[in-house]
Amino acid sequence: MLSIPHSKPYITGNEFQYIESAISNRHLSGNGKYTNLCQHFFKEKYGFKKCLLTTSCTDALEMCAILLDIKPGDEVIMPSFTFVSTANAFILRGAKIVLADSNLLNPNIEESDIEKLITKNTKAIVVVHYAGIACNMEAIMAIANKHQVFVIEDAAQAIDSFFTDSVGEKKILGSIGHLAAFSFHESKNIQCGEGGLLVINDERFNARSEIIWEKGTNRAAFFRGEVDKYNWVDVGSSFLPSEITAAFLYAQLLALDDIQMKRKENWQLYYEGLLPLQANQKIGLPYIPDYATNNAHIFYVLCKSLEQRDELILFLKKAGVQLMFHYPGLHTSPFYLHNQEYVTVLENAEQFSDCLVRLPLYVELDSEKINFIIRLIYEFFE
Ligand SMILES: *Cc1c(COP(=O)(O)O)cnc(C)c1O
Repeated sequence: MLSIPHSKPYITGNEFQYIESAISNRHLSGNGKYTNLCQHFFKEKYGFKKCLLTTSCTDALEMCAILLDIKPGDEVIMPSFTFVSTANAFILRGAKIVLADSNLLNPNIEESDIEKLITKNTKAIVVVHYAGIACNMEAIMAIANKHQVFVIEDAAQAIDSFFTDSVGEKKILGSIGHLAAFSFHESKNIQCGEGGLLVINDERFNARSEIIWEKGTNRAAFFRGEVDKYNWVDVGSSFLPSEITAAFLYAQLLALDDIQMKRKENWQLYYEGLLPLQANQKIGLPYIPDYATNNAHIFYVLCKSLEQRDELILFLKKAGVQLMFHYPGLHTSPFYLHNQEYVTVLENAEQFSDCLVRLPLYVELDSEKINFIIRLIYEFFE
């Protein structure tokens, strides 16, 4: 019996009210009032210029691949330590994915490995801000600009988190690459079951992004009165969520600051409680570079080995607490090994795959439960 699950989606209580209002508006398909309210929220709060609500982050990433005209023969560089959607979006268009190692100190892509992976076929670099902690975006954008390749931020976990560049300018994650994708899957900080957001920072993609979003038609321009009929003008798919989903998400967005405050409070309790174990070199704790902020998406502990990590998971499971590891590296996956031509060893990524374990982190956790988990971890290591 698990008394403390790994994750529990937070409900604000206002979701029903907005869904009811969407129903009484009798506009339930996409791109209606609540879709616009959500998109407007992001523009106001974070200064994103153009954003489109999607049915998932996976879909937003697929839109990125279409927007970049990814074709067979193109190469896309990304970290091996990520979720499969980061890769699938580009594989679906025939690209070859080129997998990079993680940093030594955190699971993000090692920026100094990127340049040697660039070839004349490289079309894009996809970065993943793991646990909502920024990659070194200044270094990565410099490499991309030098080689004229696009940067996509897989910001699935990175809502409300920032990168500060060397002149002290603080930038919201999702605003730095040419395109960015966020997730509102129920496991993320802000959620609507399944949902996502595409952010378009390079205005060359503005017009086409709406068309791809609306099944390859110029329907969005038609509804703004910019064209007098709408037509099939490009490839596309059904990437927009219904108004019911958008109404649910809107309730969550209005509670974003409260949700973030509570999650950070819980994260901090773990961090301070476990610091002595890190000082005694029993475990590793999350490393947040000076240029990054913490959005409390994930709290993880690093064990010494795969065996020790699995024992820790089992030890807490027996006490009713669910811990989860993360990401076997894509370069070790059956799909990759069957379909891509080169095999590689990525030491840091493998280390995180073997040794990282995520502790329960959600709004409804309280200090009593967190202290209970911390005590169990001490017991294990003593
Ligand atoms: C959650 C996640 C995704 C997928 O998000 P969905 O909204 O479920 O499609 C993609 N990339 C990363 C890094 C994620 O954590």
